[in-house]
Amino acid sequence: MNATQKVALVTGATRGIGLETVRQLAQTGVTTLLAGRDAGRTKEAAEKLKAEGLPVEPILLEVTSSESIAKAVAEVSSRYGKLDILVNNAGIVVDDMSKAPSAQTLKAWRETFDTNLFAVVEVTQAFLPLLKAAPAARIVNVSSQLGSIAMHVDPNSPIYNFKIPAYDASKSAINSWTVHLAYELRDTPIKVNAIHPGYVQTDMNGGQGEIDVPTGAKSSVGMALIGADGPTGSFSYLGKTLPW
Ligand code: NAP
Repeated sequence: MNATQKVALVTGATRGIGLETVRQLAQTGVTTLLAGRDAGRTKEAAEKLKAEGLPVEPILLEVTSSESIAKAVAEVSSRYGKLDILVNNAGIVVDDMSKAPSAQTLKAWRETFDTNLFAVVEVTQAFLPLLKAAPAARIVNVSSQLGSIAMHVDPNSPIYNFKIPAYDASKSAINSWTVHLAYELRDTPIKVNAIHPGYVQTDMNGGQGEIDVPTGAKSSVGMALIGADGPTGSFSYLGKTLPW
């Protein structure tokens, strides 16, 4: 690998949007680390993409484990000495859809925030030195339009009647975190953005989504590859700004 070769890491990439994000990033020639929490499934997913001739490597990363994060950072540091692109994609939904917002358990709230918010903050903090070692790093936080408070209060919005509070609030929080980190890094070449992938046919919704997985990965990939004139601190879907 030469020094100008870009290196990316995508969390939660064993299936769904993450796996396809790895494929599409690697198709552009970026060396892409497919991160997953199960060693066997992570290796298997990476081998499949390697067999397609793509520059993909597996890396073990359970995003809610400080120990696992530290090991992944050490591995990227010793192998590449930098990280050009971090896609915080891993996410879960544990709200009980049959229950009212006030009836969701605290356990569900805590589990959701552990994965969808606190892990994103910790992974990003841990990789920040390697991101700063790259010439112009990009951080993409995979949010959701369900994190848009403006859409939730609008009776005409498609999400008005769909309220899963732990997940929704975790994605609103990721949007806020994105804005705060973008502000901190505003005088550096690093750009930090949140995206909505679309309502995508993955395991997360039992395949009920409206768009296919390749289209669902486009917002992450597009934002991971923006140039110096691209946005920072934004929230978008396929390049179109979404309301906070
Ligand atoms: P998915 O098919 O359920 O895949 C989720 C991925 O995250 C899996 O690879 C899973 O790994 C991984 N993951 C979960 N917890 C993890 C942890 N603690 N450590 C490491 N990896 C973990 O979901 P998806 O639809 O592709 O969703 C990807 C992202 O898009 C999520 O952030 C989601 O909130 C967001 N999103 C999705 C939609 C949609 O319509 N699908 C809409 C808006 C936003 P395992 O295989 O090990 O379980």
